Amino acid sequence: MTLYRLIYSSYGQSNLGYHDLKDIMEKSEKNNQFDGVTGLLCYGDSVFLQILEGDRTIISKTYHRISLDPRHHSPELIECTPIESRVFGVWSMKAVNLSALNSQEVRNLILKYSLSTTLRPENMTSEQCLNFMKAVAIFYNKAASS
Ligand code: FAD
Repeated sequence: MTLYRLIYSSYGQSNLGYHDLKDIMEKSEKNNQFDGVTGLLCYGDSVFLQILEGDRTIISKTYHRISLDPRHHSPELIECTPIESRVFGVWSMKAVNLSALNSQEVRNLILKYSLSTTLRPENMTSEQCLNFMKAVAIFYNKAASS
């Protein structure tokens, strides 16, 4: 298996609701577990930022399937690169809704990895996106265990 990491962003449809996010998370966990795909999906400021890790052919197929989903639009591929090991290996796909977390801490996190307090991955480098997602995972784990 050739292990790759793919990062992309997209915009959620304006009528996107809690049930859509729940459905996306449930489908993702089920399909990704079957496919050996791990990663993190983050939603905030109407934007999705997702990292997929796994076999190159499989994450490519997964990305193409996701990009056709009518619940979001304007997908932008930020990175697709070979990696030695997984960063999000424990998660077949964890979806983090940023609006459900402490807003000031979330804004500080976004500001730390970009030049604004609004999540706009198109203005971030792939390295900033990866580091932001790592920080979100740590932040989410802390919030979930407290
Ligand atoms: P089904 O769930 O049976 O879906 C069949 C078709 O209907 C697909 O084309 C699907 O896009 C569409 N569909 C399903 N539900 C809805 C709905 N409520 N509204 C409109 N159309 C719908 N899937 C993964 O497997 N892994 C991921 O990591 C992943 N990440 C995602 C991230 C984002 C931002 C979005 C928007 C979707 C993501 N999905 C992910 C879902 C993906 O786009 C497909 O919906 C899903 O993989 C299809 O699952 P399925 O093969 O079981 O088919």
